[in-house]
Amino acid sequence: MSERIEGGCFCGSIRYNFENKDYSSSNCHCSMCRRISGAAFVSWMAVPKSNFEYSQGEPKKLISSSHGTRYFCKECGTPVVCLLEEYPEYIYITICSLDRPEDFKPKGDMYTDEMLPWLEKNK
Ligand SMILES: [Zn+2]
Ligand SMILES: [Zn+2]
Repeated sequence: MSERIEGGCFCGSIRYNFENKDYSSSNCHCSMCRRISGAAFVSWMAVPKSNFEYSQGEPKKLISSSHGTRYFCKECGTPVVCLLEEYPEYIYITICSLDRPEDFKPKGDMYTDEMLPWLEKNK
């Protein structure tokens, strides 16, 4: 558990890493995540900001709502992180921008009332 968890965008312009710990995580089924990613849902991991750093590049900011700001690679468009006004001490990382998303199964589902009818819940 000592090596840092690493990730980055599709084109490699942005690289980040954070302390290897057990964090809370969830699939978000809200319509904003869906439209912005172009995918059925987005899997997020909540990491304390103090554990997180960019090792290369900085993403472009998009103010997506009155309470959330999303960050993308300006070159390739990968959604990298999100900040929520309500939880200012956390940075929310897209699990699928991690180098090893297979190691981080989301622990729950949120906004399931907006979930697409052809998806099944995380069990
Ligand atoms: Zn990129
Ligand atoms: Zn969402």
